Amino acid sequence: MAEATVHCLYCGGLQSAEHPACPVCGAIARFGAAASAAPEATSPPCPRCGRALVLRRLSDDASTALQCEACHGCFLRVRDWSLVVDDTENGHPIDTKDFVVPESGALPRDELVPLVRCPACHKEMDRFHFGVRSPAVVDVCDAHGMWLDAGELAQVVPYAAEVAKSQRLPAESEAAMRDDAAFSAKLRADEEQIESHAEIARANFRADPAYRLSEDWSAMLSSFSRILGR
Ligand SMILES: [Zn+2]
Ligand SMILES: [Zn+2]
Ligand SMILES: [Zn+2]
Repeated sequence: MAEATVHCLYCGGLQSAEHPACPVCGAIARFGAAASAAPEATSPPCPRCGRALVLRRLSDDASTALQCEACHGCFLRVRDWSLVVDDTENGHPIDTKDFVVPESGALPRDELVPLVRCPACHKEMDRFHFGVRSPAVVDVCDAHGMWLDAGELAQVVPYAAEVAKSQRLPAESEAAMRDDAAFSAKLRADEEQIESHAEIARANFRADPAYRLSEDWSAMLSSFSRILGR
């Protein structure tokens, strides 16, 4: 990974850590400084089952993940995720054998359905098909990282490494983004919503220059990130 680049949490494409938009899929991220931040010393609880997450090494290189030893799901912080995709792209595949469904069995389906909260900020994560049309459905906080349930790590990473290598989505994903009328309609609706948030923010700012823009900003960005929530 070159200085100040990260891999998009929505498709794996390589993007600048400073610029929020992914050049491959167009997703807007909010990770900013979190992209290069060193891991925190404390481990948050598993967003699925509440056990403490444990730092696990994924390769001989620097790749790590915070794993739940009970349900085998894992949280990849933005930096972890970028290193994992880099390692895989560079011919050092990660070891995913401890990240499959545990022998004691998968979590019951009704425990896998609810949306999860980001272990870092506790906001509900966005759920979507990784890379628009890959079979993996993942949960992302665009500020902090990605939650993968047991078995999903091995599905998502090779797909992401392929996207990163070519800096393009697979043809069927590109076609889906181009041709899907529902997707286009949703995109337009969200653009209108973003514009209305922007208008409110501008009006508030005119009325009171000390007004804090951050809440309007995060509403705008989260509605934009929901464009990808399909
Ligand atoms: Zn992307
Ligand atoms: Zn768990
Ligand atoms: Zn978060």
